[in-house]
Amino acid sequence: MSEKMNFQAEVSKLLDIVVNSLYSEKYIFLRELISNASDACDKLKYLVLTNPDIAKSSGEFKIKITPDAKENTLMISDNGIGMNRDDLINHLGTIAKSGTADFVNNAKDNGSSVDLIGQFGVGFYSAFMVASKVEIVTKKAGEDKAWKWTSDGIGGFEIEEAQKDVNGTDIKLYLKEDDKNFTDTIYLRYIIRTYSDHINYPIVLCLGEAGEENVNTGSALWARHKSEITQEQYKEFYHHLSKNFDEPWMTLHFKAEGNMEYTGLLYIPKQAPYDLFQPDKKTGLKLYVNKVFISDKVEELLPSYLRFVVGVIDSSDLPLNISREMLQQSALLEKIRHGTVSRILKELKKRSENYDDYMLFWKDFGIAFKEGIYEDFNNREEIASLSRFMSTHDTEKYTSLDDYISRIADDKKVIYYITGDDEKVLRNNPQLEAFKAKNIEVLLLTDPIDEFWTQTLQNYKGYAIKHINQADIDWKLERDSQKAADGDMQKLIDKLTEMFKTEVGKVVTTDKLTKSPVSLTVENGQMSIHLERLMRNHQQQTAFASTRILELNPYHPLIIKLSEMVGENKDMAKVEEVAKILLDQAKIAEGEAISDPSFYAEKLSEYILKAI
Ligand code: ADP
Ligand code: MG
Repeated sequence: MSEKMNFQAEVSKLLDIVVNSLYSEKYIFLRELISNASDACDKLKYLVLTNPDIAKSSGEFKIKITPDAKENTLMISDNGIGMNRDDLINHLGTIAKSGTADFVNNAKDNGSSVDLIGQFGVGFYSAFMVASKVEIVTKKAGEDKAWKWTSDGIGGFEIEEAQKDVNGTDIKLYLKEDDKNFTDTIYLRYIIRTYSDHINYPIVLCLGEAGEENVNTGSALWARHKSEITQEQYKEFYHHLSKNFDEPWMTLHFKAEGNMEYTGLLYIPKQAPYDLFQPDKKTGLKLYVNKVFISDKVEELLPSYLRFVVGVIDSSDLPLNISREMLQQSALLEKIRHGTVSRILKELKKRSENYDDYMLFWKDFGIAFKEGIYEDFNNREEIASLSRFMSTHDTEKYTSLDDYISRIADDKKVIYYITGDDEKVLRNNPQLEAFKAKNIEVLLLTDPIDEFWTQTLQNYKGYAIKHINQADIDWKLERDSQKAADGDMQKLIDKLTEMFKTEVGKVVTTDKLTKSPVSLTVENGQMSIHLERLMRNHQQQTAFASTRILELNPYHPLIIKLSEMVGENKDMAKVEEVAKILLDQAKIAEGEAISDPSFYAEKLSEYILKAI
């Protein structure tokens, strides 16, 4: 008796997108189904190795493609792990990955780019691009019952018991009228060779009366010698792993020899994956032992700041029946990880010599990569040297720390930085005026992560890394302008200290400002205003809020005027009003919110009106 079930709402939506917007890339369905068949064989192979009592495999693993031009159907069969009733319901009717569901819910019904949706793994559902009906007959290894799953890709599916002798899955597609070409063996052979050649199991194409033909090379790509692999093949394997459609930014194929033998085939995509910053994002390497798939969730293979690297590590030194739990404690894995990280960093170093090329990597992955500066103690200097930053030296180009060092003009070994939310706002921060005047370069750091690595890496190649408010510099500048009288300045300071006592801890005169009348900073060594703001945004209470210092520029006409007014005790209401506006300006320059925006706006218009 068959049972009718509905697709999860997101699946229906996904199907809609798949069927309507991947129109030109129809052939990808075959790649997806073959890839699933290969995964199913991997899973059974592993199970047989680790739990021989539960599972037996039925002969040599293979994937069979059977076209039927008369019936207009195409069947993809494997003798892998198969699915039971629960598997069918859970895997082919719901979306497991949280990111995919979110994406689908936010996606526009049309115009979703193929590139994007590919990343989310349309996977099995892509069958409905070419099929008006899909029929699956499957039997899970080690179980007695077989099941049949049928769907037209609209609304839902039906499940009933079925007959099948051996474990594995047969997926039969009833092709749409327009997609008859997928029964053409010449076309099928071409698609399989192009997109699935790297698959580790034989892919057999049934040619009807002419028999069967083994279509793919059938050996693991990474195990072949570099000289035997074409760029196309590297790329296709990357597509298979990453679910992207673009060219990888980096392809790194290596063999480590010596006391530990392993092969790596690693890629860095051109675009960051959608889930790069989701907390549960796992690193993207698959582990094989002698071409047998072990796991794709081996977090120990790569540190998390390299979580955007996808690829395969295959080692013959690990025991074949290693369990996933054992993996976590393996000292061998630690060695592989160590060696792999070094290789990646070395390759990045090479690529960093070409600025434009390196920027393609940096703009998408730099934020994650910088986490390594505090996460990876052993490589932190290397990671810092591969990092790039905006600075006051150039308005467009990023700089490296080494280039910064090469431009230092004085004999103080210090790299200065300032942090904030926005680069443009930072560039105009009054705190930078004296640095400009003295020709001292300052890094402009705008990623939240910057607040953290700068706390860990306080020294780079013998150069101290300091927030500008820790600078120990004699700010005396050559000035030809007038200066406020000391006595009046003191009175102004007393006045403002009293006025702003709840908001500002201290009011001082400074030599640091050239253009601005006032500026906000914190006591040397205290948490920067930006970090405080970050913590506040994350509900981390500001119990240890830094003491705000309001700095006054005694050379600025406005400050001179105010100090004179206070000195003469004249028009104090006006002094207070202007002082409030100035404090607001200082806050704005820091990227801080002002306490009474309507007061500020109203007063500003009033003064502008007087001026024009
Ligand atoms: P993904 O392969 O990324 O997990 P798919 O949509 O391609 O996503 O497949 C969904 C799930 O359906 C798979 O994870 C697997 O559990 C199951 N599945 C699909 N095809 C097969 C198959 N041929 N044999 C066994 N399980 C399969
Ligand atoms: Mg899949």
